[in-house]
Amino acid sequence: MPAIINFKICDNSDECSGLSICPTQALIWNNNKKTLEIDELKCINCGSCAKACPVRAIKVATDKDFEFIKKEYEKDKRKTSDLFIERFGSQSTDKSSLISYAYFQSITNKKEPMVIELFNNDSIMCLIKSIPIRELFKKGVLYNKIDTESDQTLINQYKVKELPCLLFFENGQFKDKIEGYFDTTQKEKLLEKVKKIGF
Ligand code: SF4
Repeated sequence: MPAIINFKICDNSDECSGLSICPTQALIWNNNKKTLEIDELKCINCGSCAKACPVRAIKVATDKDFEFIKKEYEKDKRKTSDLFIERFGSQSTDKSSLISYAYFQSITNKKEPMVIELFNNDSIMCLIKSIPIRELFKKGVLYNKIDTESDQTLINQYKVKELPCLLFFENGQFKDKIEGYFDTTQKEKLLEKVKKIGF
């Protein structure tokens, strides 16, 4: 049995990361139908496409579990848009959240509570296992992400030892930080830390 795509959460695009990875060209973009397709006869169940998918929208099925996975997909209530919300520690899905160090300097005196997430290429984790970040904070908290790959200023300034890292500011003053990744199973732990800081 071949790999199987969950179109409820797949963004079904010709930029699918699995297209160039598939060793047998079983996974293709059908330009006439404008959809991804898997050729059952060509698929060798290697799992490369499943590993490459950032939202885990492809599973590799054996004879036994193909029907089970199909039913699981039918019951899935998620939509593609559910995945495109900003998550702690994962790739940025909302490009408006991404700011530069220079822009950060221009907003640093804001009175409103503000959280800045610092990350780099090595700290990026799985999208699907990452916590939707905005729901951790009180209403009105500003949230942005900064890629520290090319500018280490904030890392040095706030003595950050581990990425990703959340920096908390209020009334233009630095309040506290939370270092290291927390996945969805650790949401309560992270929430507790955020509440302790008063956000
Ligand atoms: S499981 Fe392997 S062969 Fe099958 S579609 Fe995915 S990458 Fe291609």
